[in-house]
Amino acid sequence: MDEKSLLDRWKHRWNGLRKGKFHSRAVLHGGDQSMIKSKDPRFYRSAIAALVTLAVMGLFSIWPGAVEWLYLRSLFQVWRVAYDYTLGALPIPSGVWLMLFGIWGIGRCVKQRSWSWRGLFQLLLWLFSSFFWLWGFLYFMPSKKPDVDVHWSSIEVYNWLMEVQTDLETHLAHAEIAMTESEVRERLEHFLAQTQWPTAGRVRARAWCEGGITRYLGVSGIYLPWSMEGHLSETLPVEVLPFVQAHEMAHGYGIAREGEADYHAYKALTTPLGVETDAAAHWKAQYELWCALRRMLLQLDQAAFERSRQQCSSELTLRHQKVKSNFAVYTGQMAQLGSKSNAIYLKTMGMQDGLANYDRWLVWLWIEGMNARSQANRF
Ligand SMILES: [Zn+2]
Repeated sequence: MDEKSLLDRWKHRWNGLRKGKFHSRAVLHGGDQSMIKSKDPRFYRSAIAALVTLAVMGLFSIWPGAVEWLYLRSLFQVWRVAYDYTLGALPIPSGVWLMLFGIWGIGRCVKQRSWSWRGLFQLLLWLFSSFFWLWGFLYFMPSKKPDVDVHWSSIEVYNWLMEVQTDLETHLAHAEIAMTESEVRERLEHFLAQTQWPTAGRVRARAWCEGGITRYLGVSGIYLPWSMEGHLSETLPVEVLPFVQAHEMAHGYGIAREGEADYHAYKALTTPLGVETDAAAHWKAQYELWCALRRMLLQLDQAAFERSRQQCSSELTLRHQKVKSNFAVYTGQMAQLGSKSNAIYLKTMGMQDGLANYDRWLVWLWIEGMNARSQANRF
């Protein structure tokens, strides 16, 4: 085969693809012939949208300071209000609409036999563009938290763990008290307002009856930019659910990175509002911190971890066992695959530490604690 004919073949293929000749098997086998000849403007529209999105991403990566004013405090707030007081106000989670829409789309393609690689590529381009315009640009915004690392010593972590453990044991009666979505939102908005973070809208993070399907995929909660709300499983135990809910809501208010969403969830639940549920919210946040510190201590010093286990009261141990057995149901190969995919996703979005990014909140809490201790010593 000479080079010219190979080039001609590729040119022919490209022209065919451009003009929609490979649009569908139905079309090629006696469908609407006019479709073959016409150029499909939808393809160009999706390609132009993706190119504009890439250009804006380029702008934000060289000028990250612009994200706050050109996106978070402007366009994103418009999305929030427009969605939260319309579709978000409906009693059915938007993930359900999104799922039904997806099923309808797939059903339509199968019925009309109008599936094509080009159509799929076009869909991926739209998903890519909409992801960033609806939320993803927030990944380009510089963090408000210090980018520092702490060299953890096992003694310090042990002492911190013991402090939190005693707090949990003393207030164990508040463990079982459930919290409503509105209560969690009110707490988060209250904390965000203290830090001058915009809180327009009314972010939803609903627990919907999906029988734990997402948890089998390794997901306790997820914020989807396309549905504009957080989704969590109703199978999550009461001790854990409010923290996950606050974490997903934090994403909804524009806090993109995982460690920062965890930090905001903790602060939202531990900042008192002067109401009856303060202690219940505080317990849930401390429980999440306790679990994170235990994981860290286990890695640092196994003997110290064993000591902390022995020190733990039987009541708290029993409650923790109950939570652990709930989570044990959802650990499988699919869940492992889910967390691996999440790690790849986080790295793609600039969090080079991957899943370890979730634990960044411990660093900021530790620094805050140190600052508070040095302030106290000064007086
Ligand atoms: Zn998250």
